[in-house]
Formats: sequence, structure tokens, C-alpha cells
Amino acid sequence: MQTFTSDPTPDQTIDRRGTGGWQEVLDTDAHEVAPGGEWRNELHRVAVEQFERAAKVVGLEQEIRARLVEPRRSLTVNFPVRRDDGTVETFTGYRVQHTLTMGPTKGGVRCAPGVSLGECAALAMWMTFKCALLGLPFGGAKGGVRCDPNRLSEREKEQVTRRYAAEIISMIGPDRDIPAPDLATGEREMAWMMDTYSQQVGHSVPEVVTGKPTVLGGCDGRASATGLGAVFVTERALAMLGRSIAGQRFVIQGFGDVGSAVARELSLRGGRVTGVADVGGGVVDTEGLDVPGCLLAWQREHGFLRGCSQGEPVGRMAILETPCDVLVPAALERQITSENAERIDAQLVVEAANGPTSPEADAILAEHGIDVFPDLLASGGGVIASYFEWVQDMQRYAWSPEETVQKLEVQLSEAFDRVIEARRRLHVDLRTAAQTVAIARVAEALWPDPLRSVRPL
Ligand code: NAD
Repeated sequence: MQTFTSDPTPDQTIDRRGTGGWQEVLDTDAHEVAPGGEWRNELHRVAVEQFERAAKVVGLEQEIRARLVEPRRSLTVNFPVRRDDGTVETFTGYRVQHTLTMGPTKGGVRCAPGVSLGECAALAMWMTFKCALLGLPFGGAKGGVRCDPNRLSEREKEQVTRRYAAEIISMIGPDRDIPAPDLATGEREMAWMMDTYSQQVGHSVPEVVTGKPTVLGGCDGRASATGLGAVFVTERALAMLGRSIAGQRFVIQGFGDVGSAVARELSLRGGRVTGVADVGGGVVDTEGLDVPGCLLAWQREHGFLRGCSQGEPVGRMAILETPCDVLVPAALERQITSENAERIDAQLVVEAANGPTSPEADAILAEHGIDVFPDLLASGGGVIASYFEWVQDMQRYAWSPEETVQKLEVQLSEAFDRVIEARRRLHVDLRTAAQTVAIARVAEALWPDPLRSVRPL
């Protein structure tokens, strides 16, 4: 980097306004002012590393790489909410849109203590590639509010959600950006967001969010679609090994919207769910746990798994090391890392959560011969059902629940085949294969030049 003294010589005059006297600031805040510094955090590093690996395989031009490693737009909002005790607390929220070329942007809204700009940027980037892999006409987005939802009352949650929706209203809309549920948000939060948006524009706009209650235009089965999608992927993955779900041992980390649906659907198909855990810990039983009769019933009553009378207790991280045929991370990002990957005792990992495996862990799992069916594919059921909901809302025409499930399976199966075919042709791992399919599609949309050097996939 060129350096400047605080007193530039005459031939530096031209730089005076832009750089004169800034060296000290640039040196002190090197991290923040470096290109991409706004987004830099561990999850964004993981997203960029995965992307770069696939971009190299595809032979993606530097100009397009530079466009895709950073989001197009982001908004940070700080807003006050009166707590039940009368005090006023300021909350911070974000909405990040990664790519605007593929159509409106789409992505979840989460409430969690770790929500940050870098986290939203990473998740928005993955959403772009997830939608591209699945053939959906969306770019990626993500947003959320930094808070601990367990420490908010119902009234406070409503205030936080509505105020967040009002603050990001300039970014969202049925043709711009369509939020959906994610960590600690669901039908109720989407109904509050839809209502807040509708009040602003003066009429009901169901198509501004997906994952709403069906009575407001929600899609029957959206709440369980991510879990169901992960089970479809598991079914196809096992079929490649000549097995079916029946009789296999499954371990699931996370028992929220996604994890509980995975457990239910697997047990319906005869799978042996031998371990589950949520944030407070869980239970294991090598004989298999009673999912509908015990786990779901207990969780409905208590809101968590701890204390469930079946099986032996297990910790929320120890669950990942429980021996099984298929491990399904369905909680948070960065759960399987170089710290624990050596001890994963499964034949397949099916990523129902976003970003649960670090690149370092990917390498260790590969050494151990464990195939990882990546999040872009395995957690894609939710955004496919969201797409169906949006289409139905735009058309004011509801499909039957059977039609939704059938179309979901077809769309995921086609994406599954694309990934397997790319792996076969390019001799890469499944994650890189999924990313190459997605990146090639996005690159073609960003720069549809027939002379471009991206290898056809
Ligand atoms: P949720 O809030 O409904 O459930 C999260 C679950 O994870 C809860 O059971 C919680 O107790 C558990 N958990 C939280 N922290 C944990 C920890 N440190 N260790 C173990 N368990 C922990 O969220 P969800 O909607 O089920 O989302 C789960 C994952 O799936 C997230 O990665 C999310 O981004 C991803 N995802 C969700 C959807 C969707 O439609 N909801 C779609 C695609 C991907």
C-alpha cells in the first residue's frame, strides 16, 4: 500500500483529499477498512473458503468471484423496545441481500444472541447458492435480531419482531426480498411481519413473507418442509448404498422446527432414532427412542427435551459423537469442527442445519470415508416450500398438501441428481459438487457471455 506523510509533497497533491493524513487511521483500523472487512467473521470465512474451492474447480473469473464473496446490500438497524419491567432496551438487527440478479431475494430471519453482520452475510451467500442449486428464481438473503429469545416475554417478542419488520421495510417486499422463518422464528413471527408490512401499505400482502399460518396464505406443510426435505435426501443417499431408512440408526442434533420434523419423518419410515438433543441436552437409546409417543409429546408439554423419561441423558455436543449410521445436525452452524470431527462415528452426515461443518472438519470426515450431504441440498426443503407458498400467494390459488409434498420431492430429487452427477464428473466431494452446480448457474446469470471460460456443468 502506498504511504503518505501528513504533509504531502506537491506531486501527491492529487491524492490529498482521499488519502492525505489517513495513514494513521488506515493503520489503526486495518481490519475494518480492508476489502470485505465489514463481513469478516468465522462463518463468513467458512462460506468464502467453500466458495473459493468450488470456484477454482469451475474456473470462475476473478471479476465474478469478487462479486460473489461480498453481498450487494446490507442494512443494520438499532431500535428501542420497552421491556415488561418498564425499561427501554436497544436491539440490533440486520438484513443482508447477497445477489440481486436471480430474482427477488429470499432468506430466513433469526433471533439469536450470535446474530451479526458477518453471520447474515455468510448465510445470505449460501442462500444464493442453495436457490441456484434447487433451480429457484431467487437470490439469497438473511436477517435477524441479536437477542436471546428465551429471555423475552411473548409481548416483548412481538414488539421486537414488529419493530424489526418496520425498520427493514424499505428492503423487503414480494418483488424485492421475502423473509421466512429460521432459528427461533416460525409461523407466529411471520404473521407479525406480514401484518406490520400490510399496515404500512394499507392492504393485506401475504406474499411478503413465507412460513405463515395457512389461514393467512401459508403453505400447508411449510413448517416441516426442511425436515422432510432432509429425509428425502437421506432416503436417496441410503439408496445409493443399497439401504433404506428402515432399521438404520439416526442421531439428530437440534429438536426445533427442523430437527423434530426429521425425527418424526424418519420414525414414520421405520428409522431407529437412537439419539436427539437440543440446547439443553437430550437422550440416547441404542434400541431406538419413541419419537411421537415420548419425545414429541414431552417437548410439546415442556418446550425442551431435558428430563424426558426415555433413554440415557446426553449433552448437546456429545450427541454428535454418538455412534449411528446417519448423523443429522439440525441446530446451529459450526458444530462439527476440527475439535470433534475425529470422533464422529457415522457413515453419512446429512446437514439439515445451515453451515454445521467447518472446512477443517470436512477434510477429516473425508479421510474417514464419511460422506457429507451438504446444507445447500439437505436443508433445501424449506426454501422450496417457501417458493411454492410465494407462488400460490401471488396467484391467489392454493394447491393441495399432497401436490406440495410431491413437487417438493421432485425438485429435491432433481437437485440431488445434479450434485451426484457433478461429483462423478469432477471427482470432488459432495459439498464442492453442489457449489459448482450453483456457482455455474449464478455466474451464467451474472455474466451470460457465451465466450466466458466457466466450464459447462
Ligand atoms: P429452531 O429455533 O426451531 O430450533 C433450533 C433447535 O436447535 C432447538 O431445538 C434448540 O434447542 C437447538 N439448539 C440451539 N442451540 C443448540 C446448541 N448449541 N446445541 C444443540 N442444540 C441447539 O430452528 P430451526 O428452524 O429448526 O433451524 C435449525 C437449523 O436449520 C438452523 O441452522 C437453520 O438455519 C436451519 N434451517 C432452517 C430452516 C427452516 O425452515 N426453519 C430452513 C433451512 C435451514
